[in-house]
This record gives sequence, C-alpha cells and structure tokens, in this order.
Amino acid sequence: KAALYENLDEHTRITFKDVAGLDEAKGEVMEVVDFLKDPKKYTKLGGKLPKGVLLVGPPGTGKTLLAKAVAGEADVPFFSISGSDFVEMFVGVGAARVRDLFRQAKEKAPCIIFIDEIDAVGRSRGKGAMMGTNDERENTLNQLLVEMDGFATDKGVILMAATNRPDVLDTALLRPGRFDRQIMVDKPDLKGRIDILKVHTKSLSLSTDVNLKVLASQTPGFAGAEIANAANEAALLASRKGKQSIEMKDFEDAIERVVAGLEKKNKVIN
Ligand code: ATP
Repeated sequence: KAALYENLDEHTRITFKDVAGLDEAKGEVMEVVDFLKDPKKYTKLGGKLPKGVLLVGPPGTGKTLLAKAVAGEADVPFFSISGSDFVEMFVGVGAARVRDLFRQAKEKAPCIIFIDEIDAVGRSRGKGAMMGTNDERENTLNQLLVEMDGFATDKGVILMAATNRPDVLDTALLRPGRFDRQIMVDKPDLKGRIDILKVHTKSLSLSTDVNLKVLASQTPGFAGAEIANAANEAALLASRKGKQSIEMKDFEDAIERVVAGLEKKNKVIN
C-alpha cells in the first residue's frame, strides 16, 4: 500500500488562515506549532511537552483541518491515518501498521501524527466485542499505547487525534503522558459561520446581492463542512443555470439542499 502519510506541499499546505473561527482552539494548538518549529527551545530546561492532543467535537467542525494547519504553520510533515482503517485489518496487521507509522514518523521528526476517529480503535478494552474483531482492535490499541510510551517528545513527534466520542475512549489513552490535553472543536456560532462563509466564498464569483451575514443566520446548527458544502453547491447551481455570478437565491437553494440531505441522514440513523 502507498505511503501512510501525506506530506502537504506548497499547493496543499493548510495554515491557520484556512481555519475560520475556532479562535480558542487555535490559541491552544499554537504552543504545539511553536514547539515543532524549535523543539530544543522547550526541552532545554527539562520540561516535558504534551505528547498527545485530543481534538474533541462533532463531525465536520474542522478537527482534521486544524491538525493539518498545525503541520502547515510549523512546516513539518503530516502523517495521518483513520482509526476506522485499523479496524478492517487482518489479524496482526493493525499493530504492525501502528509500529510502522511511528517508525516512519520518528525518521521525519519534527512532525505530526494524526489519528482521525480514534474512538474506532481506542474504545474501552473489554467492551463491545463484535464478531471476533475486538481482539484485533485491542492488539492495535495496545500497540498504540506502547508506542506512545516509547517515544520522547524531545524527538519532536506530536500525536494529534480526533473524536466525537471522547466518552467511549479507553481511560488508558487519556493518562498523563498520552492524550493528556483535550481541545474542544465545536460547531460555529453566528460569527464563526460568517467567517467560514468568507473562507469558502473567497475564490467564488459572487453577485453583489450576496449577504454572508444573512446566509450565516440561515444556517444555525451547520458545521463548517456543511457550510463549505453549501457554498460549493451554490456555485454549481449557478453554473448549471449559466449565470455569470452566484446569487443569493443560489445560496438559499443550496442551503435548503444541504438541510434536506442532513434530514435524510438523520432519518437513516434514527
Ligand atoms: P470529521 O470528524 O467528520 O472527520 P472534522 O472535524 O475532521 O470532521 P474536517 O474534515 O476538518 O472536519 O472538515 C471538513 C471540511 O469542512 C474542511 O476540509 C473544510 O473545507 C470545512 N471546514 C470545517 N470546519 C471549518 C472551519 N472552521 N473553517 C473553514 N473550513 C472548515
């Protein structure tokens, strides 16, 4: 299989300006950025940095984006894997993957390892056994804990992970020296939605009647991913009609579509 990590180059490099709102979360990860830029500055006095930062929040709120932005700001490699990838693996493969991931990362330090959906692999051990897959998941989780204990932050590897279910995580993952720092990445408020709309309409041709403040007020409960989706949908709707620019009506129709899509999704879940 291809390399486990993506090394974001100039074109795909993401920085804090791509992440709208989330000021508090950005402030908290700033320390990680500073550390990755100059690990020695922090370890000189003997202090230990956090190894793991857990980003907690609902789907689509920008957790992955924020982790990528930390790598982008510090200009270091970004290794990523999803917890759900591990779960599908054959016996022994998950643990081997974890070993391999950490080995690769240590070679490229300073860098970030990002584990999305860590709850898929990091669920409490001994609970929710499902068709024999659980042992394998536990092996993988155990390996992850071993690796986390086995590296010193002074090498410049910082682990970031994302979850919307911190409550199901094995407490071993949350102990000091592991994911001992949690950062909330919540759905945006009105101002946050305006800022996200600004980011996602920056490169679009907008008609003069488009009012982002009004659009933000029409999207309560939207996560950033849904706002990004609506902006893109509006551009496609306007294009389909052969318009020269995207009008307010296109955005409103797009928002309606996204809402309808969300309702459908909720029905499937319930
Ligand atoms: P999940 O838990 O489902 O993995 P996530 O919290 O990691 O979701 P992202 O994958 O980071 O969410 O967000 C998906 C997309 O939504 C981003 O690539 C971006 O286009 C948009 N987005 C989400 N939040 C923001 C934000 N705060 N600012 C700008 N864009 C955002």
